Amino acid sequence: MRHLIALLLALPLLLAAGPLQSSQKIRRVGEWETPPTVVLCDTETVSKENLKLILRWWEELGYEFGQTVVSPTHRGCSGNVGGTITITRTALGANTRFLEEGEKLRWAKVKLPVDTPNLILAHEIGHGLGWTHTREGNHIMNGRYSEAGWFSGGLQIGPPRAFPGARGPRRGGSAAGRGR
Ligand SMILES: [Zn+2]
Repeated sequence: MRHLIALLLALPLLLAAGPLQSSQKIRRVGEWETPPTVVLCDTETVSKENLKLILRWWEELGYEFGQTVVSPTHRGCSGNVGGTITITRTALGANTRFLEEGEKLRWAKVKLPVDTPNLILAHEIGHGLGWTHTREGNHIMNGRYSEAGWFSGGLQIGPPRAFPGARGPRRGGSAAGRGR
């Protein structure tokens, strides 16, 4: 059985040499067996409303989430709890760790600075869903936030679903340009 704890940052892309190739295949390391509970430990990183908008953006692509819980005292805020994507605060750049076993995701931990833009939140949730980086320009999983955007090519896993208001996050979704 394969055990993997991955730390995904934008940095590895800085090492990539050569010309950009426009259609990089994007890879998913694993998927959730059951829809993960999303735990928000600190609302200074992102508001619950924004988090809901971003989860909905992923739901539009076919992904499912369990409950969204806002609680600084949830066990996931101090440890790693199976079945959860936990969002906590960091003084450093945004990053996501997760545990994958046999191509199944067990837990994911997203760390975000205060006032994280929705584009970066959506990117990190993408890691929490098992997606790795792509070099495709304007793509949500581009590892350089200055080159990332709301393009979701290759990420759709279910039939398109329509939610009123789901387009909200795309407005004002300019790339931060400086994150990791
Ligand atoms: Zn990333």
